[in-house]
Amino acid sequence: MLSILTNFGCHWSCRYCVYRENGINIKITDYRTFGWKELEEELKQHKGELVSISGGGDPLYDYNKDTHRSKMFYNKLFLLLEKYNCILELHTSILIEEFPYDKCERVVFHLTTPTQIGLINNRLFELPKLVRVVFVVQDYYTNKLILQIVRYVNDNNNAVNELSFRQMIGSNGETKYYCHEFLKQGHMKLWYYIEQCDYNEYFVDDHIEREYLKIK
Ligand code: SF4
Repeated sequence: MLSILTNFGCHWSCRYCVYRENGINIKITDYRTFGWKELEEELKQHKGELVSISGGGDPLYDYNKDTHRSKMFYNKLFLLLEKYNCILELHTSILIEEFPYDKCERVVFHLTTPTQIGLINNRLFELPKLVRVVFVVQDYYTNKLILQIVRYVNDNNNAVNELSFRQMIGSNGETKYYCHEFLKQGHMKLWYYIEQCDYNEYFVDDHIEREYLKIK
């Protein structure tokens, strides 16, 4: 999948942050200097496909403040995607009324506690049909906690229809394997278990990178 990596800034509140802990560096995304021409060339190659957007930072961090003209950035991005019949998968930890989430094919919310599911359910704005939540498995996770998250999603949810877990990456780029066997057992039955790998081609500012941990 083509994955657009932005850097509009971040709240830095995820304990497991692979970006911060591994010194990954993505230039601040600015609507005026972003490589639109180069992105258009890539979209021509990915016509009709699902394209994702994430960070470096959180792709919605600046949206309300608009310091880096992120509203104009997203307006232009949605037009370009439409031109090449592409659909968008947004990865974020931010819920804000102003962003048109429903223009995406899928929104993937990166959560840190199961109770945040309630925030998604109680929102006052539209979400697309596909809403996924992702939890990064950390050292304090147990099988019991994972099952509690499953129950919480099933019992308290009216918006989320995909649950996934992924492994934490340490500060030397190494994958941790917390609850690994248990997560493999439930994969495709109770949740999706995403094992760490460079599945994507990353579009960073004006060019393609192939290995996330080498973006420096
Ligand atoms: S949103 Fe992303 S970049 Fe920001 S702290 Fe969380 S994991 Fe790190």
